Amino acid sequence: MTSTFNAKEFLATLPTPANGTPVTVAFGDGIGPEIMAASLKVLMAAGARLKLEPIAIGEQVYKAGNSAGIEPQAWESLRRTKVFYKAPITTPQGGGFKSLNVTVRKSLGLYANIRPCVAYAPFVATRHAGMDVIIVRENEEDLYAGIEHRQTQDVYQCLKLITRPGTEKIIRYAFEYARAHGRSKVTCFTKDNIMKMTDGLFHKVFDEIGAEYQDLDKEHWIVDIGAAKLADNPQQFDVIVMPNLYGDILSDVAAEIAGSVGLAGSSNIGEHGAMFEAIHGSAPRIAGQNKANPSGLMLAGVQMMAHLGQPDVASKVHNAWLAAIEDGIHTYDIYEEGQSSEKVGTMGFADAVIARLGRKPRTLKPAVYDDKPIVLATGLRGTTVREEKKLVGVDVFIDQPGGLAADIAKKMNGPITAAFDGLLRLDMITNRGVKVWPNGLPETFCTDHWRVRYMAAEGKSLNNATIAELLRRLAVAGTDFVKMEGLYTFDGKPGYSLGQGQ
Ligand code: NAD
Repeated sequence: MTSTFNAKEFLATLPTPANGTPVTVAFGDGIGPEIMAASLKVLMAAGARLKLEPIAIGEQVYKAGNSAGIEPQAWESLRRTKVFYKAPITTPQGGGFKSLNVTVRKSLGLYANIRPCVAYAPFVATRHAGMDVIIVRENEEDLYAGIEHRQTQDVYQCLKLITRPGTEKIIRYAFEYARAHGRSKVTCFTKDNIMKMTDGLFHKVFDEIGAEYQDLDKEHWIVDIGAAKLADNPQQFDVIVMPNLYGDILSDVAAEIAGSVGLAGSSNIGEHGAMFEAIHGSAPRIAGQNKANPSGLMLAGVQMMAHLGQPDVASKVHNAWLAAIEDGIHTYDIYEEGQSSEKVGTMGFADAVIARLGRKPRTLKPAVYDDKPIVLATGLRGTTVREEKKLVGVDVFIDQPGGLAADIAKKMNGPITAAFDGLLRLDMITNRGVKVWPNGLPETFCTDHWRVRYMAAEGKSLNNATIAELLRRLAVAGTDFVKMEGLYTFDGKPGYSLGQGQ
């Protein structure tokens, strides 16, 4: 289906309602065209008022030499419609290709990724009957800023960026979502016992903003034990908000333990648009066989209809989908002898949903979408009072293979600091964050990447000219510095971490 599928020809077979809302559609790669065709057929049969604009993205665009996987004219459609219904794509193997998903999310500022993970027991096998968890994943920041460097022969780094505005937006979104959808609890997962500043900020903002939502329960878990509890007893969670990486991993885990990744849809919401997609990929091994389960993309389509202010269509499709699942009409991935009644292919499932439009499930909870618009971007209050920022030191990272910390200290102290008339002192040296000077342990393994920390004398502050002069002197002395980080205080509070063992 992938190579022969013609999006325009397929779209010509669908109804074209007058005054349809323009939506950009991508049929994607692998199973993408099949599941998108199935989903659109159902949505349009349910009376969706849409004007569909197809764009090409993914493998064919990458292979035509566009490393972003999306053509400039596709952006024109996306920026105009502001709504993107997207099938999964295949990212070609090998270097040089940027992730299209990350590019679209970040270019359009789609900061909130909402992934409902729901169990459909007893109709779909699950160990967690009753599971109904919404994962709200921050979508733009964290380690996904994509800022990576190789600094020495042996050491690579990836910058983890957590910002106050980005965190405020996603936390507020999670609370607003919970309130709008009648949820009672919002949980936050972070690793702030280790990353006290980045994850610490996420947790702190969760507490600050959470205090404004007296009607909702709040709790925080360290992500490792939180993940264990989610896998063991997901029924204890309701809405969970997380930084990007934890949310990416745990939403797949949550969807899979609920029943199947093939069942979960997701929305990506921002101030300038929204994108709706399945959480799974293009499953190339089953492509073109009319086997794939279209449910994830279909349920993403349901979220899109609610977003577009067509709750009647959202309810109709969701309830017909629940009825089909309940009637045991199942694709191979969820089919079970004794429980399922009929094994169907992708289009067979779509036809089964269409045949049930207007029906409600008998056992599963019917879906209700009302005219209340789904929560959009919630605006930003931000920090209004700027804190007093003072430069009180500098971390200089150097590349030096082999050698002893004591020798590095000797070389980088003495004449270097003496030139600053007591303004600067060498404070410590760490390797991979562990203090190795003064008083390091001989057992500590050292790489070729050292951090040398200089601090201003008590009560004094520095400026960038002092730092530039320090770096100039280090360069003249033959030090191969690979990066520097200013050490600041904000209203007197340190904006940097101590060395491990300091
Ligand atoms: P995948 O999600 O495509 O497949 C994982 C497994 O789940 C496979 O065994 C597959 O058979 C099964 N599966 C997935 N969706 C299914 C469905 N709808 N019905 C039935 N079974 C289904 O993950 P992968 O194999 O790791 O990745 C394949 C390609 O998809 C890669 O090129 C990857 O980069 C891409 N990908 C794209 C997206 C996206 O576009 N949003 C997301 C994830 C992966």
